[in-house]
Amino acid sequence: MKGIIMIIDGMADRPLGELEFRTPLEAANIPNMDKLAKIGICGIMDPISPGIRAGSDTSHISILGYNPYEVYTGRGPFEAAGVGVNVEAGDIAFRCNFSTADETGTIVDRRAGRIREGTDEIAQVINSLKIDEDVKIIFKESTGHRAVLVLRGEGLSDKVSDADPKHDGKHPKKVVPLDDEANSKKTAKILNKIVERSYEMLKDHPINIKRIKEGKNPANIILPRGAGAVPKVQPFADKYGMKAVCIAETGLIKGIGRITGMEVPDVKGATGGVDTNLKNITNAIMDASSQDYEFILINIDGADEAGHDGNLDEKLEFIERVDEEIEELMKIDDCYFILTADHSTPISVMDHTGDPVPLVISGPEVRVDDVDQFNERATARGGLCRIRGSDVMSILMDLMNKSTKFGA
Ligand code: ZN
Ligand code: ZN
Repeated sequence: MKGIIMIIDGMADRPLGELEFRTPLEAANIPNMDKLAKIGICGIMDPISPGIRAGSDTSHISILGYNPYEVYTGRGPFEAAGVGVNVEAGDIAFRCNFSTADETGTIVDRRAGRIREGTDEIAQVINSLKIDEDVKIIFKESTGHRAVLVLRGEGLSDKVSDADPKHDGKHPKKVVPLDDEANSKKTAKILNKIVERSYEMLKDHPINIKRIKEGKNPANIILPRGAGAVPKVQPFADKYGMKAVCIAETGLIKGIGRITGMEVPDVKGATGGVDTNLKNITNAIMDASSQDYEFILINIDGADEAGHDGNLDEKLEFIERVDEEIEELMKIDDCYFILTADHSTPISVMDHTGDPVPLVISGPEVRVDDVDQFNERATARGGLCRIRGSDVMSILMDLMNKSTKFGA
């Protein structure tokens, strides 16, 4: 028996005037999701708790049965793990931009002309940087102008501010400690030096000289932000006794897979946008289901992107395209299959809200209810009623007859 949780990022929504006060899920043509609702047990889920606006990261952490208030210190650690840095508990991780500074130190382009090539070579320069004897600097490029910075060593802290000024036309912000601890002061000092040294080391880098010649903005400074300490997390396999794989598109969710010790394969053409290659994702899921994994976590991101863009047509179309893939996924034998979202990203809000999301579980021994449509309102009448993200793994483990009895 396998457990599969498929999370369509930001799929849930609010009623919209232009849809005659239906939600995109209510308006979309989704015969396969509706079929799942018909053969499964439905409910609605508060990813963290009612009204809490979950991030994708904190929601996934909660759904996997970890306490986000304990595990989550910031996005940095998950992004770093997601791009393949072997982070260790206690490391301090940051998200970074490759940016462009002029001779006066003003940031003229936070995204360095949306640089796409050569960032791996530039990253190696920062990676070789030594500032403090006891602190190892690990720096790795991510997609486009993004990168991650990890500090490893004794006496560090994540209680430091950002260097990224968030707007062009400003100087990098001086990183300051956010408390009175010596660790925070030391970390702030190191970060300020990294920012300063990055400009010295990168301004004449061959890749940047070439970019300037081509009329492009050079990637001549790095700006860290979003400090977080890598948490000590019980591996998923120890916690649940199941070998797990995470099929995800974005560095953030891949990082959650890696930090919880799951296998995280790369899926070709998985962009995390509405242009993603859903066929390849489906193939990766089918491939994983034919191997000896007992648990598969899936995240597909496009509906969230469309939600953030406020693009209703794209959201509807993407949900319908995902629905087509579910027809194939329903062929997986001997499994409990959970379909849900990690939060709502309403078109009207263009950001995450705290509304509960629909959820369905299909599988051999679920108590099938009367719900035969998969959307926010219909599933609220289902047999699971209203649960929290932190209940999902307990319910799945119980259905799979894998949970231990509490009491005699
Ligand atoms: Zn999300
Ligand atoms: Zn989002």
